[in-house]
Order: sequence, then structure tokens, then C-alpha cells
Amino acid sequence: MSSLTITGAAGRQIQVPTGLFIHNTFTSSITGATLPVENPTTGAILGHVSAASPDDVNKAVTSSLAGFATWKSTPAPARAKLLLRLADLIERDAADFASLEAVDAGILYTDSLGMNVPQAVANLRYYAGWADKIDGKSLAMEGGMAYTHREPLGVCAAIVPWNAPLMITIWKLAPALAAGNALIIKPSELSPLYAQKLAQLIQEANFPPGVVNILPGDGASAGRTLSEHMLIRKISFTGSAPTGRQILKAAAATNLKRVNLELGGKGPSIVFGDCDLENALLWTRIGITANNGQICAAGSRIYVQEGIYEEFLAKYAEMARKMPAVVGDPLDPTTTKGPVVSGAQHQKILGYIAQGKKGGARLLFGGREVGEKGYFVENTAFADVGEGEAIMKEEIFGPVASIAPFKTEGEVIAKANDSLHGLSAAVFTNDVNRAHRVTAALETGQVTVNAWAMLSPNVPFGGVKESGFGRDMGEDALEGWTTVKSVKYSILPGKL
Ligand code: NAD
Repeated sequence: MSSLTITGAAGRQIQVPTGLFIHNTFTSSITGATLPVENPTTGAILGHVSAASPDDVNKAVTSSLAGFATWKSTPAPARAKLLLRLADLIERDAADFASLEAVDAGILYTDSLGMNVPQAVANLRYYAGWADKIDGKSLAMEGGMAYTHREPLGVCAAIVPWNAPLMITIWKLAPALAAGNALIIKPSELSPLYAQKLAQLIQEANFPPGVVNILPGDGASAGRTLSEHMLIRKISFTGSAPTGRQILKAAAATNLKRVNLELGGKGPSIVFGDCDLENALLWTRIGITANNGQICAAGSRIYVQEGIYEEFLAKYAEMARKMPAVVGDPLDPTTTKGPVVSGAQHQKILGYIAQGKKGGARLLFGGREVGEKGYFVENTAFADVGEGEAIMKEEIFGPVASIAPFKTEGEVIAKANDSLHGLSAAVFTNDVNRAHRVTAALETGQVTVNAWAMLSPNVPFGGVKESGFGRDMGEDALEGWTTVKSVKYSILPGKL
């Protein structure tokens, strides 16, 4: 099978197979279709990987059915051992994964090495610990008793985006496999390389064939075929709301497969006058500039209490001036700002910035594209943004902060909740009572106090409202990968 050699950080040469990964072997797609792999730093095409057709999906499902039959009867400690082995292999090859995420998706090598890869490893280890602890209950019943089993669902699929691809894939793979399911992974067409590397390690770890199949491919073809497949029992999806709706419709129209949706956000960061201002400045900056704002949990709406509003704006702008981003190749460890993922994303972000400039908001800094090649955008902040403006209401998925003042706790809670989304929020205050009140009142899947978007494998992550439903991470995610069977006994009277 052919492979692609990618130059990673410090000149390392990384070889990844280009084929689909089905039944532990790499194979071309049946139609011969391929996907281009673009480097967003330069716009150069680095090569091609195979693109799964509907027939390839069917082939993978047949393999997964066999994989599931083996895996569900594999003793839990043996499943845990393989998850731990995979964690060790990813840790060993961390620099390769970080390089591939940089070259393929424009993610900073240092961010991937410092967060995405370690979080993936931590999730594998966390769920390895769960594999032999997925227990049922014993329940009393009139005339008898019952017990429950938590059983795997069967063949499942993970459809994932490009913005933290390894970590998000492992958020799904680790609990799915710990619970005994087989998993088909469809990476985003914008970032297939990490998944080709992951497939190599699944093979090296020696998972039984069919437990994990990996199908790079288009959403409209491979993704849709997975969503409509009659033998797939669950789709765990992270991505945009329009795609989430299509998957949900496909599930409704076919076999009513279970669907988990992790969709977009427009996270409010609420800065109260009593907060530690330096800390709030730091986190509100990171919250919208990390990964160029291409994070569903980004703190993209910043509400600042009236008494400190002008001071906050002055210091926020000063911070941007004094600590300018080092723009460049995300593989270079000194770079602090890489490109956004694609030409389309670049245009979308610049379009929102143009709307912001035309509206009534005040441009605090940024607002331009950077350089002649590749997809770079300046970190940008608008102040005095009206509630009705598109840059305040819609997910931009770029490094664009929309800042506005508020007077009272009640007013800011109402503004924060006046959104179709409900994924993530942050509250900055030194008043513990206020922190309790506001976190309780926010309509959101997660809220951070005095920081932004902390992650830990044991803490669930997911949304409410149009940000979706179901959870990744934590014990709650495991529930989503199992079904409960109740076994009931009638206890007959005996002859004493
Ligand atoms: P996207 O919806 O375009 O693509 C996501 C995945 O869905 C890709 O693998 C794509 O190939 C696939 N897909 C596309 N059309 C499909 C179809 N008809 N059927 C099945 N699959 C299909 O999203 P994206 O551009 O990759 O990611 C950006 C979006 O993802 C943003 O809106 C962001 O907020 C969201 N996101 C959410 C989270 C979260 O945890 N909530 C995390 C990261 C990204």
C-alpha cells in the first residue's frame, strides 16, 4: 500500500499510509477516489489519501460486525490492556501526531504536543480503568427480583471535525471500546493524516481486526452512508449544526440509531467588576485566540461590567500590542499563531470581520488578513457590540472577540442565555455567592469559574439547546455507549 512522507517538526520524516483502514489492513477505495491533503500554511497539496465510497463503508461495516463479535466477548481486563497499549504508543509518537496536526490542520505543534495529544492519552487511560467497572444493579421486585446489565450497542461510528482531531476522536474511541463496541471513524476531509497514523498504531497494538476501522472520506458520501446505515447502532458526531441535523434526519429515516451531537457554540465570558482583572484579561484573551478561535467552546462573547469596562478594553488592547502573536509555520515551536484551517474558513472569518466593521461596533484591534500565502487572520476584537449584530450572535469559529458592557447580574444572565447555543461559558468573579448564582442560571453544558474551558477526562463535555446533546468524557459518556438490559426473575414458591 502506498504511503506519504510528511516533514514534521525539527525535520522529522513521518510516513503515513494513504489507504482506508479496514480489518487491520490498508486498502485503496473501491472506486479509486482520493482526497487532497492541503497544508493551510502554504496552500500546497502534500499528497492524497483514499476516500471511502458507499461500498467501502459497507465493507467496513461487515468487518466491524466481525470485530464486534470478538470484542464484546473479550474479557474487560484484556480490553483495558489494549487501550493502555494504544495510550503508550500515542505517547511514544506524540511528536508525530503533533506534527501531523500542524501540517494538516494548522494547529500549533506546541499546542498539540502540550494539550491535544496528552488529553488523548489521558482519556485512553481513564477509560481503560472503566472497562471492568461497567456494572449493573440488583433490584427487588414484587414476587421476584431483577438485575441489570450494561451492554455495548454494537457497531458504532464517530464522525469528527478537524479542529482538535486526535483528541476528539479519542473522546469517542476510548469509551466506545471500553464498553465493548466496535467503532468506525470518519475523520474530517480537512485533516485525515492524524487518523492514518492512528490506524498504524491500532495495527501495532494488535487490536482484533474490525474493532476499529478508519475511513477518510467526504461527508456527503462516506459520512452520509454511515448515518443512513441500517447496521450501525450509534453515530457520535462533533461538527457543525447543519451536518448534525442531517445526521439526525438520516437516523430518523433509517434504523433510529442513537445519535450524539456536539455542535457549535457562542460562549459568553462574563467579567464582573469584583474579579481578579489580570486573570480575567489572560483567560478572555486565551479563550478566543487559542487555536485561532477554532474551538467550539471559544469564549467569543465577552461581557464586562460597566465600572471596569473602559479599563478592561484599554488593558485588553494593550496586551495585544505588547504581546503580539508570532505568526508563522505552526511546526515552528516559537510560532504562537498559525493559519486557520482552509480557504473557506479564512473567507468566512474575514466576512464576519467585514460585517463587524460595517455595523456599529468599535474595532479595538486586528481585523486584517496576514501575508500573501496561506490562511492567516489577525487576532481581532470589537467593542460596544450590539446584541443584535451577527458577530455577537453567530459562531464565527475564528479569532474574533465581541465585547460589550453590562450593568447588573440579571442583565448579563439574560444576555448570555439569549443564544441558540449552550455549550460553554466562563464567569470571572471573586464573590463565591455570585459564582454559584450565575453558574446555576446559565443555560450551558459547562461553565468555568475564573478560567476558561478546563479539560479533564473524568469531567463530561457537551452542550444544551442547539449545541447538541449527549456527552463526551467522564462516566456520563460511558452511558451513551451502552444500553441497559433488565433481567427479571419470578421466584416460585417452594415446597418446604
Ligand atoms: P462539519 O459539520 O462540516 O464536518 C464535521 C464532520 O462531518 C466531517 O467529518 C465531515 O466530513 C462530516 N460530514 C459533513 N457532511 C456530512 C453528512 N451529510 N453526513 C455525515 N457526515 C458529514 O464541521 P467542521 O467544519 O468540520 O467543524 C466545525 C464545526 O464543528 C463548528 O461549528 C464547531 O463549533 C463544531 N465543533 C464542535 C465541537 C464540540 O465538541 N461541540 C468540537 C469541535 C467542533
